[in-house]
Amino acid sequence: MTSMIDVTSPADGRRVGQIGSQLRDSVSDVVASLRGSQPAWEGIGPHDRAGWLRRYRDWLLDNHDRLCGLLQAETGKPWTEANLDLPYVVDVTNYYAKNAARFLADQRPARHSLLTITKRQLVTRRAYPVVGVITPWNFPLGLTLIDAVPALLAGASVVVKPSEFTPLATRAAVDGWTEIGAPPVFACVTGAGETGAAVVDEVDYVQFTGSTRTGKAIAKSAATRLIPCSLELGGKDAMLVLADADLPRAANAAVWGGIANAGQMCTSVERVYVEASVYDEFVNLVTDRVRALRLGSDATGYRYDVGPLATSTQVDIVRRHVADALERGARVLVGGQNSGQFFEPTVLVDVDHSMLCMTEETFGPTLPIMRVADVDEAVQLANDSAYGLSATIFSRDTRRAEEVARLLQSGAVNINDVFSNLFALPVPQSGWKQSGMGARNGGVYGIQKFTRPQAIVTSRLMTPRSELTWYPYTASRTAVLRRAARLLGAGDLRRKLF
Ligand code: ADP
Repeated sequence: MTSMIDVTSPADGRRVGQIGSQLRDSVSDVVASLRGSQPAWEGIGPHDRAGWLRRYRDWLLDNHDRLCGLLQAETGKPWTEANLDLPYVVDVTNYYAKNAARFLADQRPARHSLLTITKRQLVTRRAYPVVGVITPWNFPLGLTLIDAVPALLAGASVVVKPSEFTPLATRAAVDGWTEIGAPPVFACVTGAGETGAAVVDEVDYVQFTGSTRTGKAIAKSAATRLIPCSLELGGKDAMLVLADADLPRAANAAVWGGIANAGQMCTSVERVYVEASVYDEFVNLVTDRVRALRLGSDATGYRYDVGPLATSTQVDIVRRHVADALERGARVLVGGQNSGQFFEPTVLVDVDHSMLCMTEETFGPTLPIMRVADVDEAVQLANDSAYGLSATIFSRDTRRAEEVARLLQSGAVNINDVFSNLFALPVPQSGWKQSGMGARNGGVYGIQKFTRPQAIVTSRLMTPRSELTWYPYTASRTAVLRRAARLLGAGDLRRKLF
């Protein structure tokens, strides 16, 4: 019998739903059924698949309130934040639906040498039959669907495994696929880590978003099965505020970038480096804005700006980072305390890299701000990290900021904005170092990653009955081969001729 897992609200602990914990056999059955339906799905071609995805987009929009309601109940987020996932998914769907046929089109590369003059060369894209999408609790709908949609458009079947803490909105969203009568190529399995591990053991490609620890476990399992995985993991994103920055905009960006979603974003601003000449003014602006934030949870209302942390484990981590900073000489200018799973938005100063809050991922509403002498020191400190997901630079001199960006060890750099790379679908979103492997989005790559290239090389019919390299092996054929290699391959006349 399947055991059940309670889903509770992090705001007040009340039970908001229940899911089954699907074990290995059940996951295996689901994947087998998806595998059976996939060839026909791939066979209908990208135009018809795009048609289904557009119908699905409309269903999501028609069910927006219900889905966001479930998401809000299981995350406790402010209503505005609960409404962020679906607009992103709609944009992703439209982008890939519009471009799928072009991105997946056959390619006929030019022949590269006289040796292949008689060949016709074709590269087709063939989907991985079943893609598994395993996701965390911070953006339950968004992080599931922005990967499921391009995978489906690529012609794959998709099984999603949402976090056991926030499975309700995702499960309801996947039900919508059946409701619109689409082919049975999209399913949801529920459960905790064991269910995720079973998915990795069954599918042909794993798309994972979550912690670096779990990402590494998944990479190991995938390596054992020799299947690819794409990992979007943790971050410790730095913001660099240069002396010529628009300080009010930089302060607003730091506060939203660090505190939005209670700081529970892989791309949250986790540490800020400010050039000495503008440090005091910047800290004052940030502190004033953080003090004005309202902490609480009111379902579909607008009374609060910052919701609870998702789990008590997260609360423990944030408390540990703040306590460690204080012990090592940092000061809290605002915040610093928690009540249950609500952690006050917190500004820390007098911080340095001996402190956990500057080196380990906090994933909470903290903003440690450090004074630096100049840009060089800011770059050196920003790069002093095991992570490399994204970074932010504020400067009025955008050309110079682009030069500084090239010095940062990070998969993306946003200049005069936070997170804007996430919404620029033609550019890749990839984590360096401990922040991941592979990328999502990036135009053609965002959909091709769910496919394998298949090379079809055709010999035209007018070719001879035998080729030079086939049997029989003779001295004269080998001599012709050697001569041809010299004639066609050498870089100078002497070698070509002698
Ligand atoms: P977080 O700390 O953000 O919840 P995790 O990496 O622990 O991040 O979890 C992200 C997702 O990975 C969840 O859906 C979780 O159930 C799943 N998961 C956890 N452990 C494993 C595992 N060993 N194999 C596959 N999936 C896992």
